[in-house]
Amino acid sequence: MKLIMCECCGSNQLQSHGGNSLICSFCGSIYRIDENERILSKEMTDARIMALFVEAEKHRQAKEYGEEIQVLAKALELDENNANVLVKLGRAYRVLNFPGKALEYYERAQSIDPDFPQVYSNTGAVYLVQKDYERAAECYEKALSLISAADVDYPTVLANYAIVLARTGEKRKAAKFMNKAEKLGYQNGAAARKMAGLGTFSRLFGV
Ligand SMILES: [Zn+2]
Repeated sequence: MKLIMCECCGSNQLQSHGGNSLICSFCGSIYRIDENERILSKEMTDARIMALFVEAEKHRQAKEYGEEIQVLAKALELDENNANVLVKLGRAYRVLNFPGKALEYYERAQSIDPDFPQVYSNTGAVYLVQKDYERAAECYEKALSLISAADVDYPTVLANYAIVLARTGEKRKAAKFMNKAEKLGYQNGAAARKMAGLGTFSRLFGV
């Protein structure tokens, strides 16, 4: 394996760092070694991961979750400490009905980035399906405390939290969150209301 110079500090003191990466012993920059023994900088690694996300998303939209997992596994090889990759992998396993596997990936993601809201919203979804509403509520509350209202996932997190609230009998609060989610563009309101047993309740109360 040929040594390269650190792009950040110019040092040539690059040392092996785990199975497929090098670390600059001066500034700590990490370089990945790809399947063709090419050495990739952090920026190149991130760009490759973004390209793999685009590919994985196409499979997800086509409901090809097995293929989605294969693509995400390549991204994980490039960066095993990428919380976003781990959450996406967990989500694919959740959809394929492997909740235990999904929770494993979410736990790994949480240990890397405990402030990543999608870790909690996705974990909440596992507990929601398992009808463990207490744990699901904790997860969604944590997710809502971390997520920006401008985040594309925000309305969905609100709507799922509303379903949990409705299932635990807090219908009025549930209706309030569901209305807010719909105002922010949540598309599956009708189905979610039915799931939550909300019906026209919220309209009666005008919340
Ligand atoms: Zn360096």
